[in-house]
Amino acid sequence: MNVSRRALIGSGAAFALAGCARTSPLGLTALPARPRLAPLHADTGHLTKVTVCLRPFRPAGPRLEAERYGDKTVVHNYGHGGSGWSLSWGCAEDAVALARSGGASEFAVIGAGVMGLTTALRLVETGAQVTIYADQFPSETRSARATGVWSPSSRIGLAGQADEGFSQRWESWARRSYAIHRSMVGVIGDPVEFIPGYDVADPDRAPGPRASRPFLHLGRTVRDMEPRWSRLGEEATPFQGKRTSSGLSMVFNVASYADRLTRLFLLRGGKMVRRSFPDRSAVLALSEPVIVNCMGYGAKSIWGDASLVPVRGQISWLVPQPDARYSVFYDDVFAVSRRDGVVLQYTGPNDDYGYGIDQETVDSAETERVLETMQRLYRSAQIAAHQHFPTRAAAANLASAP
Ligand SMILES: Cc1cc2nc3c(=O)[nH]c(=O)nc-3n(C[C@H](O)[C@H](O)[C@H](O)COP(=O)(O)OP(=O)(O)OC[C@H]3O[C@@H](n4cnc5c(N)ncnc54)[C@H](O)[C@@H]3O)c2cc1C
Repeated sequence: MNVSRRALIGSGAAFALAGCARTSPLGLTALPARPRLAPLHADTGHLTKVTVCLRPFRPAGPRLEAERYGDKTVVHNYGHGGSGWSLSWGCAEDAVALARSGGASEFAVIGAGVMGLTTALRLVETGAQVTIYADQFPSETRSARATGVWSPSSRIGLAGQADEGFSQRWESWARRSYAIHRSMVGVIGDPVEFIPGYDVADPDRAPGPRASRPFLHLGRTVRDMEPRWSRLGEEATPFQGKRTSSGLSMVFNVASYADRLTRLFLLRGGKMVRRSFPDRSAVLALSEPVIVNCMGYGAKSIWGDASLVPVRGQISWLVPQPDARYSVFYDDVFAVSRRDGVVLQYTGPNDDYGYGIDQETVDSAETERVLETMQRLYRSAQIAAHQHFPTRAAAANLASAP
């Protein structure tokens, strides 16, 4: 995903982060202490891997429609840009409605990324016989390399290219998906959580350049369902001397989320087969009368969709840091401390970043940049960046220290 400032900053009531007020022996109430945060350890000693992935972007928005090929029906569900995890459930439900409308009882779903998993799970829950065919299984897919935050409007389409009804369809996908993600909070494996988020900037930072393309930003339409963000005053920000907005962010612990979806699918009678399809005729040779195409960027070559644009994104992964569970956005670097690792991403100045780039090799300069940016943040915000993993007890002391 790309996280624009606009996407991060909510409006309205404050999310209280203030430190505890203290009472002196004379009974006078002192000012609240500045809240403290355990810093993220963003250095090569904590780096575990670097991954690259391509967002499947369609200027007209995701393709969700049925097509006839001889005696086969193909339902397309691909092209979700930087919003696939976020919009997955709503799109899956619409794809299932299309797939089931012809009365068939056996279905092939091509793809085991988030779109394939959610679509196959919803299909099998209708009592259908469902087989997922994919050359990459869930942990190997591009979906497994996502940032893992609620970002339903990230690179979802271009104004002027999406049709008139698009924003209503998008809103329906977003609302239904959010409700299902929210219902996953607290289940085994914590696939979905709300964690504190901070949008931090130097006081003199000027707005970055605007994207050259008219990317759709629809997030405001559904902001009423999300926890509100607010500006923190200098006394209330843990990042001393920085402009800070804060609130709660919905985060997907992608490893356990994908694992949960896979298990539920198999438990309900679904099958998974590893298979690579070299071309469209190989897909159409499957025995199932209805085929749901959840191939992500792979749909470009197989279905001849020239409108699919790759948008490259790179993530540097740090070991999980359970004592520092928050997200922070600073100087075009986004860090999210998930249970399955801390993901660090350079987002670029706007949504143009990575557009049209289809190479998935690691750019080590980008990794150096994200590590350096995080270290600079902690240095300049006077948060002790060099202490080693505090224990939970130590973190609790830190949180209540004056
Ligand atoms: C850096 C980055 C960060 C992101 N962060 C977020 C985020 O925070 N929140 C969010 O909502 N979204 C995010 N996204 C977007 C999200 O990851 C994608 O929209 C989503 O993964 C698309 O899922 P998919 O299932 O369509 O495709 P994929 O995950 O690519 O899955 C495609 C499946 O199809 C199979 N397949 C394809 N071609 C063939 C073939 N020829 N034969 C056999 N099988 C085939 C593959 O094996 C795979 O199983 C991010 C993307 C990137 C790149």
